[in-house]
Amino acid sequence: MPNTVDTSLMPDKIVRSVEDLRDVVACWRRDGKSVGLVPTMGAIHIGHLSLVTEAKSRCDKVIASIFVNPTQFGENEDFDAYPADEAYDVKELLGADTDLVFCPGCDDVYPEGFSTIVSVTGVTSGLCGPFRPGHFDGVATIVSKLLLQCLPDIAVFGEKDYQQFLVICQLVRDLNIPVEIVGAPIIREEDGLAMSSRNRYLSAEERALAPELNRVLRSVADAVIEKPADCERICSLARSELLEIGFSSVDYVGVCDTETLELLKSYSESARVFGAARLGPARLIDNLRVE
Ligand code: AMP
Repeated sequence: MPNTVDTSLMPDKIVRSVEDLRDVVACWRRDGKSVGLVPTMGAIHIGHLSLVTEAKSRCDKVIASIFVNPTQFGENEDFDAYPADEAYDVKELLGADTDLVFCPGCDDVYPEGFSTIVSVTGVTSGLCGPFRPGHFDGVATIVSKLLLQCLPDIAVFGEKDYQQFLVICQLVRDLNIPVEIVGAPIIREEDGLAMSSRNRYLSAEERALAPELNRVLRSVADAVIEKPADCERICSLARSELLEIGFSSVDYVGVCDTETLELLKSYSESARVFGAARLGPARLIDNLRVE
């Protein structure tokens, strides 16, 4: 059982039901306030807090949600191990100027008889898609629900999960959900490792190797600028290098179009380098713009 917060201590800062969430938002709307949403799965770190800061710079009120969404984890993934400390997470979020934390229960999100899946095609077909079957359906479904429950003016997502960000842009366009989706830059540790809740799975030895993913992706970006027609060969060398360094497997290293995520054989002006690799118990992902 996660360490939960005694909501009676701060009843106006945490809501658990959609009804209470909508009451608070309706009250803000009556006062003419704009609202930003930052969806999270908890295990809050500085990367998450940067999204709150971004939302606060654009809106009067910021809601952060904490929900570890079971439907976006595959059977052999880390749902059971996923770090949960609600008391810590709420304290961090409120300390970063979040106005309201929405912590729905699993039975409320997926009550018996729940039968709807939001499934985005196209941008989900490559990169993490084939390695995490069902993952983006889970993401698209929970984010659709959160957006419709809260009806914010904007919702902020990190570019660390760049493919997820595009999936959400697509579903909002396709379903005419009246919200602006904002992408926020990746927050990194000093050594370049993208901050992630999953970094805490790494041993000291693995943690020392982890920034190599970012270093190798940066070297791919430099190399494709030098030799734009050589994307495939450069990425193939990068995969081998990651294995030599000590990553146990590499799901992909690829140069893709920024909008469609189509794999590029030849570098064009709108490209990003993406990588996903396993190190011990953690699957690390990273990406950066080629420029
Ligand atoms: P998660 O709790 O991992 O589902 O992430 C919640 C949100 O935080 C998503 O929009 C992520 O992309 C974003 N996020 C996670 N890590 C970072 C980071 N290092 N920098 C920026 N955003 C991040």
